[in-house]
Amino acid sequence: MVRGLFITGTDTEVGKTYVAALLAAELAAAGCRVGVYKPAASGCTVASGNSPLPPGTLVSDDAVALWEAAGRPGELDRVCPQRFAAPLAPHLAAQAEGKAFDVDLLRTGLDYWAARSDFVLVEGAGGLLCPLGGREMMADLAADLGFPLLIVARNALGTINHTLLTVEAAERRRLPIAGIILNTPSPRPDDPSTAGNPAEIRAHCSCPLLGEIAHGGQLPGQLSRWLQRRRLETT
Ligand SMILES: [Mg+2]
Repeated sequence: MVRGLFITGTDTEVGKTYVAALLAAELAAAGCRVGVYKPAASGCTVASGNSPLPPGTLVSDDAVALWEAAGRPGELDRVCPQRFAAPLAPHLAAQAEGKAFDVDLLRTGLDYWAARSDFVLVEGAGGLLCPLGGREMMADLAADLGFPLLIVARNALGTINHTLLTVEAAERRRLPIAGIILNTPSPRPDDPSTAGNPAEIRAHCSCPLLGEIAHGGQLPGQLSRWLQRRRLETT
């Protein structure tokens, strides 16, 4: 089976796509055939004339960012096969638009990327307990896709709680965790928690805090080296 990571967040807007795109670009630059997959996206916009998708279709900005970062592998439409307009949990967005939400396609959509990639980066929607309809949650999808979790957390006040809750939810479901990345989606110079958050998270988590990414920053050296080690494990 192809190797990969399932990128989840401690909240929405923590920078899952930003971090995943940095990882995709790093892998692609190393000559790795990197696949990118976003099982479902909501909050999509209608394609305009300069979009890679036909005008009038729904575009996921996340899918486009991942696809571009990975070097435009395969077809963009396959990066995120289920796209909805309303900024809601995907099954609720589908309902609001009178569209079907295909829970099988959430899983089988990965096959396309598994067949043509050395390493696949999957970006979940929302966090681990984002509902997917019925009793199902994003954590169930992560379990079925089978990749270890990479948890993206926001380095700001509240992140210790959010991160520990996410780790606890993953451990309770026996989902393997590759590690945590602290990201800075918006700079907060007046937030005194940012300096101490890494040490507190390390003190309370058994999984590794892999590194920190500054606002708009590149992948730090230790994260690049970590990713290359994971990539080389696949060969
Ligand atoms: Mg995203």
